[in-house]
Amino acid sequence: MAEQPYKAVLLFGAPGVGKGTQGKILGVIPGFHHVSTGEIFRALDKNSELGKRVMSFSSHGELVPNDITLQVWAEHMASQVDAGKYRLDKDILLLDGLPRNIEQANLLDGYIDPMRVIHLAASDEDAMVERLRRRAIKEKRADDANENLIRRRWDIYRAETQPVLDHYPSDIITEIDAIGTPAEVLQRILHDLVPMLSEQFGNAFDTTEAATKL
Ligand code: AMP
Repeated sequence: MAEQPYKAVLLFGAPGVGKGTQGKILGVIPGFHHVSTGEIFRALDKNSELGKRVMSFSSHGELVPNDITLQVWAEHMASQVDAGKYRLDKDILLLDGLPRNIEQANLLDGYIDPMRVIHLAASDEDAMVERLRRRAIKEKRADDANENLIRRRWDIYRAETQPVLDHYPSDIITEIDAIGTPAEVLQRILHDLVPMLSEQFGNAFDTTEAATKL
């Protein structure tokens, strides 16, 4: 368990809606720290026991078991804190891809103070599937390499992940239209998050720290 809860914004949405893209852009903004469980898993040594076990799920579009997911994520967080990359008292954690089911949401309650849930919503599944296929070719991602796997990820999202929204109070959830250019979607997200960021920092924002991050 974390000694002090991580102040967090959850990036929520179906596969292909752009959580990773938006998370990476937002993560550059001083005061935000982006962490994606999918990225943490992809960075594991593929020849290690852990790496092989994770791949045995992710390469089939399945969720990695909850105990492994929470442990790997918690260790990653601790290393980010130790390295001074995520500052408990100053940064808001942008959590991308976690929680993905109710049990993870319950476990995560012991670690985070959820300030906002950004729900990137897209009704057009076919457009999202096409987006993922294009990305798979570019990034050589096994889990998005074929349409059946992508549809499987969507099925899991609907069955297990979407109900997680009910875990959080409705007044911290903002639904954002995920259809549009990355800049358009970013603008919608910032419209929601900037007031919260300003409230968090007030006039006390240290511009020298901002320069260090960039
Ligand atoms: P993503 O990059 O978020 O689409 O995640 C890629 C894959 O990593 C997923 O399809 C899962 O196999 C695995 N994964 C990422 N986050 C989680 C999570 N919170 N729980 C279980 N599996 C996850």
